[in-house]
Amino acid sequence: MAIVFDTEYDVVVIGGGGSGKMAAYIAAKEGGLKVALLEKLPETGGSSIYAEGTAAFESSEQKARKVPDHPGAHFPTKEEGFNRYKDYSHHRFNPDVARMQVENTAETIDIMKSLGITYTDVTIYAYDQPLELYTFHRPDGLGERVQEVLLRACVNAGVDIFTATPAKKLLTEDRKVVGVLAQDAKGFDLKIKAQAVILASGGYGNNPELVEKYSWLRRAAHHTYQCVPTQNTGDGLRMALEVGADTESCQAVMIIACARGKTLTSHSSGAGSQPILWINKTGKRFASEEVALSFADTGNTMAKQPEGVVYAIMDADTVQHLIEDGSDMGLGDFIKYHQKLTNLQLELDQDVRDGIAWSGGTIRELAENIGLDPAIVTETVAKYNDACDKGYDPEYFKAAKFLRPVKKAPFYAVNMAPSVLVSDGGIRVNGNLQVVDFNYQPISGLYAVGNEASGLYGDTYNLDVPGTANGFAHASGRVAARHAIKAIKG
Ligand SMILES: Cc1cc2nc3c(=O)[nH]c(=O)nc-3n(C[C@H](O)[C@H](O)[C@H](O)COP(=O)(O)OP(=O)(O)OC[C@H]3O[C@@H](n4cnc5c(N)ncnc54)[C@H](O)[C@@H]3O)c2cc1C
Repeated sequence: MAIVFDTEYDVVVIGGGGSGKMAAYIAAKEGGLKVALLEKLPETGGSSIYAEGTAAFESSEQKARKVPDHPGAHFPTKEEGFNRYKDYSHHRFNPDVARMQVENTAETIDIMKSLGITYTDVTIYAYDQPLELYTFHRPDGLGERVQEVLLRACVNAGVDIFTATPAKKLLTEDRKVVGVLAQDAKGFDLKIKAQAVILASGGYGNNPELVEKYSWLRRAAHHTYQCVPTQNTGDGLRMALEVGADTESCQAVMIIACARGKTLTSHSSGAGSQPILWINKTGKRFASEEVALSFADTGNTMAKQPEGVVYAIMDADTVQHLIEDGSDMGLGDFIKYHQKLTNLQLELDQDVRDGIAWSGGTIRELAENIGLDPAIVTETVAKYNDACDKGYDPEYFKAAKFLRPVKKAPFYAVNMAPSVLVSDGGIRVNGNLQVVDFNYQPISGLYAVGNEASGLYGDTYNLDVPGTANGFAHASGRVAARHAIKAIKG
């Protein structure tokens, strides 16, 4: 029976983050198409509002600066970027998608500049990280401003934006996607006819069931801590699978470490992210805490621990050091490099009162308060202090400069948890961002972009090319929209 539609558009975009808004803007502005953008939350923006930087290759900003503000560094070519995606993913990337990324991200910078954004820097994410490419374009006002500007551009281009309107299901006829079933802001079904549907719903990172099912993070999936209030629950992936889409590199997730119950900008969370002594539920160390140089590698390391639980241990001297001298390691703009963590003592005291951190006059007392075996923790700390005294870590080879002893009372433990920021793989697409089936045949009328689309990663987020996810969101949205314009206009 033919579907009876309530309304009709040329293009329906599902999701109002960076990828969705870029797709909607291009379809309306360049294609002159009638475009609806559906956003399930009361406001658009998604996880893109948190993005501090966006990747681009051979951009006008890189060309104008000639070389990065870092001795011996250079801006990577498109070819270097492509090869980094290839190597980091162990060839599990999709070369057509990676080429799309390196070819199209520079244009995002020019489009955003034309819309009023200025770029304050082109840099890397973590200053001490030797492997990163200089691709991190930092807009003034960061992701929040970029998303505001894109929203205005969509409105000016005539895009109809429906907030609090989640898409529920893709509607098909003769194996072609012909529309979307959504729920309008009043809770009623809304059937929208469309010649092209673009899934831009941000991946499954906020859905612990799907994190357990698809990502490599099985052990800790139900022990993650959501540090930002995004709602990317895998709706696009589910809808695509229902119409025969294939998946690729579903396991890739972007994880950051955050103190449970705290925000990424809180000083106790910032302290726990430093390369200080970390122990897990067994009461023992488990890695060189120097991994803190990369938030993504730190997230991976912590997520592997039993129940995803890590205790970051510090003594009174370390607390003082972080307050007076500042952090040894930055966490982008959340905790800046060498930022003085001036609220740390106040926060620790409050966190202890709230039962989300622990203190003790001795290591034994600290361990007992946490609920760990005091004998094991005492031995761990003694071994670690010995390594600090010798300036050599025989267990995990942490650099001497990060060997900070745990000797002076009072002692504190911050409860660190893996926080899945977003998923980075999922729906298999081709270089035009068309969703494909198991035989790599495009599903007519269907595209996936941003975090919903796979192709750049193997099993983990690539901080080697900082800004990759956000760069991909905008570039993939644009490329999908342009392909849809051509398909619709013939
Ligand atoms: C704290 C944080 C910091 C980050 N920092 C960076 C960074 O500096 N650089 C970087 O490259 N990446 C960063 N990211 C990753 C970021 O997610 C990507 O950069 C990218 O911007 C994602 O864009 P997107 O459009 O795919 O998804 P999003 O921007 O998340 O948008 C998806 C949208 O779809 C909506 N939606 C979901 N389901 C439905 C449905 N059924 N119907 C309708 N709407 C739906 C969501 O509500 C959301 O608004 C960060 C992520 C977080 C959480």
